[in-house]
Amino acid sequence: MQLTYNNKDYDILIEKKASNRNTYIRVKKDLKIHVTTSIFSTNRSIERLIKDNYDKICKMIDSEEKKVKNNNGFFYLGKKYVVIYSSCDGINFDKDKVYINHDFDIDKWYKKQAKDLFLERLNYNYEKFSRKIPYPKLRIRKMTTRWGVCNIKTHIITLNLELIKRDICYLDYVINHEMSHLIYGDHSSAFWKLVETNMPDYKKYRDEMKEF
Ligand SMILES: [Zn+2]
Repeated sequence: MQLTYNNKDYDILIEKKASNRNTYIRVKKDLKIHVTTSIFSTNRSIERLIKDNYDKICKMIDSEEKKVKNNNGFFYLGKKYVVIYSSCDGINFDKDKVYINHDFDIDKWYKKQAKDLFLERLNYNYEKFSRKIPYPKLRIRKMTTRWGVCNIKTHIITLNLELIKRDICYLDYVINHEMSHLIYGDHSSAFWKLVETNMPDYKKYRDEMKEF
């Protein structure tokens, strides 16, 4: 059995089990439609059910395809890698590919890389900074709406973990931006002037980041 959607045929896999009382339709990672149902369901009744739920199933296909597409890339320091899940040890990079073990914790790995790199870049940019500022304490968090936050009172700069996926120039920009807040709490022209002093081409990075 197949279902046609957007000129593509999707296989329908039917699994009949004595323990199943109800019928469930799911679209899984393999982009196949999995129907689990009771041993008493006839093919005709399943066909009918698929027909009645056609729109819902198409929506499920859309959402699964989107997920597959999004997960199809692995980003690290501005480079995109094709992910190949394998039985290798941990994570191994090879040109534009990355081999990852099924059980590997990618988020944990990102955090570990970020911990070292973000601190290194903070120190580098701090040493070069044109004004005297207190040495900031660094925090790293996953954030959805901001790249960085600066607490002027506690001198804590929080950087978004997602920066590890982008080119280092954006990380440097966010660090300079947040450090400048230790002098100016607002986004006044004096603030931007200070950012520019420390990073003359900051506008380029700021504008590019809007597109992420
Ligand atoms: Zn700001």
